[in-house]
Amino acid sequence: MRTLITNGTVVNADGSFGADVLIEDEKIVAVGAIPGAPSDVTVDKVIDARGRWVIPGGIDPHTHFDLPFGGTYSKDDFETGTRAAAFGGTTTILDFAVQGKGEALRPGLDTWLAKAEGKASIDYGLHMIMGDVNDATLKEMDVLVDEGVTDFKLFTAYPGVFLSDDGAIFAALRQSAENGGLILMHAENGVAIDIVANANAEAGLTDPYYHGVSRMPVFEGECVNRVIRFAEAADAPVYIVHLSSRDALEEVVRGRDRGAMAFAETCPQYLFLSLEDMGNGFEGAKYVCSPPLRPADHQEDLWRGLVKGDLQTVGTDHCPFDFEGQKELGRGDFRKIPNGLPGVEERVDLMFQGVVAGRYTKERWVEVISTAAARIFGLAGRKGVIAPGFDADVVIYDPDRKHVLSASTHHMNVDYSCYEGMEVQGGSDVVISRGKVIVEDGEWKGQAGAGRFLKREVAREYLK
Ligand SMILES: [Zn+2]
Repeated sequence: MRTLITNGTVVNADGSFGADVLIEDEKIVAVGAIPGAPSDVTVDKVIDARGRWVIPGGIDPHTHFDLPFGGTYSKDDFETGTRAAAFGGTTTILDFAVQGKGEALRPGLDTWLAKAEGKASIDYGLHMIMGDVNDATLKEMDVLVDEGVTDFKLFTAYPGVFLSDDGAIFAALRQSAENGGLILMHAENGVAIDIVANANAEAGLTDPYYHGVSRMPVFEGECVNRVIRFAEAADAPVYIVHLSSRDALEEVVRGRDRGAMAFAETCPQYLFLSLEDMGNGFEGAKYVCSPPLRPADHQEDLWRGLVKGDLQTVGTDHCPFDFEGQKELGRGDFRKIPNGLPGVEERVDLMFQGVVAGRYTKERWVEVISTAAARIFGLAGRKGVIAPGFDADVVIYDPDRKHVLSASTHHMNVDYSCYEGMEVQGGSDVVISRGKVIVEDGEWKGQAGAGRFLKREVAREYLK
């Protein structure tokens, strides 16, 4: 199977140029002036990308499909979630397997591999959530790294559920310094947050808004500083997931200036939404996630972090719950609202608004939505670049097409959109996953089960 993309502008993180792209089976085999093309090259399909861009498919490093949380499950499974991702121009997702309390890592990993098998329509990798750090699971980390699960997420939040104490975090960082893995941190001080949250609830402040108010930015800044200091002591890299506040960013900047191997991801919701969206009574439950949305004046700092490179990636933390029936579990007590927002379909287009607004270049946009995650998460040489030898995960992107984000048109399996009615510029017209067209002009052509599990490499050369 050979596909030729003609007349487009290839946009990579390191530059843009007019070029044809030739795909053979699952790989990109040629980029540039292809001798004889298009008339004397035998191909099965020609896509004319005139006036449009040819970009590497998006990589969302942070999704939660089919995740149990607070007595319910996130609504998108690997079938609906990966299809929605593809409609939005994302061709790789990294989801989080969860270790059960008192269990080894392996059963949790096997559970997630089974959730994805036969359902994912795009390629996927798995991070491992460690809820229980002990001598046995520390040793087990080495085995998982060898099997392509190269990173491990720990929490300073959710006491009694996922929280790891300082000793556990430091021990895991030391282990990763040896085995080449990467520790991901949900860095918010859950113990302190619970004191404020309980006091608010007992004072009758039970609306969703108080979820946001209770999880103070200072509690994120404190933990980000602490885990970066531990990483420095362990001589290991650390990656902060879903960084949401100026307080946290300042600690990343400070750490990087000292030479710490500190990396961080933010999410579209922290760039486009704010604490004010959590007002309006129980409607605010739609926006309950952790860390929470911040006062609007944090947004400019986060954009600057992306522009300057102190923030390397943008993941969605996609974890959708229907407003009706799921978010409603927390009516009358914000502490019982399932935490999470939908967003896997909207990420590439939302982040393109940074190009539209002149905040960063289209090349930096490609880096932020795709290339940087490929490098940090052990997919360099396979994903994230339009070049010969790379997987043919390719998006034909129309930088001018405008469309409106809405639950009535999105493909995510959830009954609301955080961005309802928002008009965005730019859209994915054709989405190709390992050589196969899976979305074309709004039509689904993909197949559940066609996505493959990605065994990832350790990526130390990119974690300096
Ligand atoms: Zn998450």
